Amino acid sequence: MNINFNKNKDGLVPIIIQNNNTLQVLMLGYMNEEAFIKTKKEGKVTFYSRSKNRLWTKGETSGNYLFVKDILLDCDNDTLLIKADPVGPTCHKGFTSCFAEETSKGFLYSLESTIHNRIDNNIEDSYTNKLFKRGINKVAQKVGEEAIELVIEAKDDNEELFKNEAADLLYHYIILLKAKGYKIEDIENVLKRRN
Ligand code: AMP
Ligand code: ZN
Ligand code: ZN
Ligand code: ZN
Repeated sequence: MNINFNKNKDGLVPIIIQNNNTLQVLMLGYMNEEAFIKTKKEGKVTFYSRSKNRLWTKGETSGNYLFVKDILLDCDNDTLLIKADPVGPTCHKGFTSCFAEETSKGFLYSLESTIHNRIDNNIEDSYTNKLFKRGINKVAQKVGEEAIELVIEAKDDNEELFKNEAADLLYHYIILLKAKGYKIEDIENVLKRRN
C-alpha cells in the first residue's frame, strides 16, 4: 500500500474509522508510518496522537479497541479509510461515534449482529435463541404469521399497529435468514444483481 505520508509535511495521514458492520463513521485520527505498521501488525488501530505526541492505541486504557477489518486508500494516496469492529463505544464521552449526532443508517446490521450473537453464543434466556432452537419450520411459520398480521394492519388506519407489525416481520425475517445460513447482505446482493 503506497501511502503518501509527506503530503502534510508532518508525516501524518488522516484516518477515517468506519464501523465494518453498520458503516457508521466512528471517528477521525492520524497515523504516521510507525503507527500504520503497528496497526497492520497487531490488527487493531494505533494512531499518532497529536496531543499526546506519541503512538496511541485506541482502547489502550478503556479497552475499547478498534479491530481492523479492511484498509482502503483514497484516490490520491493521502487518506485512509479503515473499516473496523469496535469493542465498545469509540468516543471517550461514551458515544458510539465521535460524531454523536451521526445516526446509524446501518441499525439493521447491528440488530442482525445482536441476533446472530444470541444464537451463536446460545444465550439461554434470549427469545431469539429460544425461537431459533425450535427449528426452521417454526421460524418460517412465525414469519408467515407476522406477514399476515402486517397485511391485516395495512387495511386498517392505525399507524402504530402497522409499524409494530412491520418491525415484527423484519425481526423474524432476519432470524429466518440466519436459520437458512444467510445474512441480509446475501439478499441485498440478489437485489443488486436485479437492478
Ligand atoms: P482509549 O484509547 O479509549 O483507552 O482512551 C484513552 C484516552 O484517549 C481518553 O482518555 C481520551 O483522552 C482519548 N480518546 C479516546 N477515544 C477518543 C476519541 N474517539 N477521540 C479523541 N480522543 C479520544
Ligand atoms: Zn486524498
Ligand atoms: Zn469522541
Ligand atoms: Zn406481530
